[in-house]
Amino acid sequence: MRFASIGSGSEGNGTLIQADGQGAILVDCGFSAREALSRMAGYGLVAEDLAGILVTHEHTDHIKGVARLANRCRVPVYTTWGTWAAKLNGVLDDQLFRMITPHEHFQLAGLSIQPVAVPHDAREPCQFVFERQGTRLGVLSDAGSVTPHMIECYQNCDALMLECNHDLKMLADGPYPASLKRRVAGPLGHLNNQQSADMLSQLERSGMQHLVVTHISQKNNHPDLAVAALIESGACCEEIIRVATQNAGLDWISVQAETVTN
Ligand SMILES: [Zn+2]
Ligand SMILES: [Zn+2]
Repeated sequence: MRFASIGSGSEGNGTLIQADGQGAILVDCGFSAREALSRMAGYGLVAEDLAGILVTHEHTDHIKGVARLANRCRVPVYTTWGTWAAKLNGVLDDQLFRMITPHEHFQLAGLSIQPVAVPHDAREPCQFVFERQGTRLGVLSDAGSVTPHMIECYQNCDALMLECNHDLKMLADGPYPASLKRRVAGPLGHLNNQQSADMLSQLERSGMQHLVVTHISQKNNHPDLAVAALIESGACCEEIIRVATQNAGLDWISVQAETVTN
């Protein structure tokens, strides 16, 4: 299994996941359809390579180009009823809507996919864990709090894409109006560096090969602060950390099947 980010942050998100010899899955498309296709080309993919688009929730930085890309390229869209009702109803061709629920895993493009309900200020948001023959990739952003359910779902990931949205002090001192600061830091907002580090320290992660920091705020955080928080918590060593950025995303990363040694 391999994965990549075509861009990560409040200006637009998109994650590519592909099992060996299978079509690719795009999780969220917060870019225009044209921009997404142009970015995907940089990862060696064309629209025909897409087996499906998964949508975590209806905020613009995740859903902006979804309907147009899906309609134009005839790609099915997997999302919850709440997300569909919020922004896709009437825009996405009905024939392309595949309803998922956060309580049931489903199969797509050689992957078993477990949706994970998260606390975020959207209608029915969920994040995902992808599994292929025992190899697990967790994708988690846009959550205001860490719930016991999330801790349970993200155990034993071989790779994890984890939101480190803001540094609490930078947010407090930063340019956002007070109401937006409250929203971002609130229980239905975004994970700050410390919350993500604390969550990571609660996960069984001995087999973790890659930790990718995502959804970093360009105004209220700095990649160095996020990485430092993860390392200082003792939850993660520097060697496995990568950062997905707004403009450059992150190049393909391969997750190897675990080799069992005696
Ligand atoms: Zn977002
Ligand atoms: Zn959001």
